[in-house]
Amino acid sequence: MSAPDLSVVIPVYNEEAVLPALFARLYPALDALGRRYEVVFVNDGSRDRSAAMLREQFQARPEVTRVVLFNGNFGQHMAIMAGFEYCRGERVVTLDADLQNPPEEIARLLAKMDEGHDYVGSVRRLRQDVAWRRWASKAMNRLRERLTHIRMTDQGCMLRAYSRAIVDAIRSTREVSTYIPALAYSFAQNPAEVEVAHEERAAGESKYSLYKLIRLNFDLVTGFSVVPLQLFSLFGIAVSITSLATYFVVIGGRIVAGKGDGLWVIWDRDILTFLLIGIVLFGLGLVGEYVGRIYQQVRERPRYLVQAVLERREP
Ligand code: UDP
Ligand code: MG
Repeated sequence: MSAPDLSVVIPVYNEEAVLPALFARLYPALDALGRRYEVVFVNDGSRDRSAAMLREQFQARPEVTRVVLFNGNFGQHMAIMAGFEYCRGERVVTLDADLQNPPEEIARLLAKMDEGHDYVGSVRRLRQDVAWRRWASKAMNRLRERLTHIRMTDQGCMLRAYSRAIVDAIRSTREVSTYIPALAYSFAQNPAEVEVAHEERAAGESKYSLYKLIRLNFDLVTGFSVVPLQLFSLFGIAVSITSLATYFVVIGGRIVAGKGDGLWVIWDRDILTFLLIGIVLFGLGLVGEYVGRIYQQVRERPRYLVQAVLERREP
């Protein structure tokens, strides 16, 4: 059996509520493409019935379904990484399990790839998420554009298509915590974007808390840029020069006035102290982010652990 034209990789974490609807829409949409495809589900250590449901689906469509079962929760991006490891398609599309990315839009991505792009991202038209997430995501997209060289209009949209070469490049990285779309972008020769529809989560709830989202964005920025670290030292230099200058001005003023200290100096000192403590704490945290990444990296633990793979034995 030769490689399929298309692999669809779907990370699944506690999605029992939505899986039936996903199966019901995904397979007809893929059948309609008229291409040879496979679906690779990666169960990211779900604690609900997801794994059992994926097993049933594998039994229902064994010729086009493969299931990778993690033995714990390693996060969405590691699940996609494992999907990349186990898929065989010439092109690979990633998709969320919750039907927020309509599977019918896959055709649009593939058509864009046919124009010669090796990586096609997507932008959510009329994004259906709560207001604070839309707002925070816009702000993060803007910040990321400035800090890294990654140009993506909508970093959060996971409906994306990758060529085999990009998938292989991503698989060859050894990074422990990463952000797959950004990684793909940095390897792509000719990336493009298309607009896709976006829907509300079909069922179940978001697996991303505010904390997890902040973590993810730290990973994205510190994983692809050392600018925060450099900015911080630049800022440190600026602060030092300013305080030195202030010192000379204050001392000079005292000498000219011929007396001890003015009230405004004390007032200034309070504000400045708080400001500097804040900056120092932030800087410490920032250094911690990078040190943490190095620590994770040097441990060289496996990025994820696979419990079992459900796939049809090749003849
Ligand atoms: N997901 C995962 N592991 C996790 C968290 C999420 O595999 O630790 C999967 C989840 O099942 C879904 C996708 O990643 O298929 C996106 O998650 P979700 O829809 O909850 O994120 P949101 O759309 O709210 O950003
Ligand atoms: Mg979602």
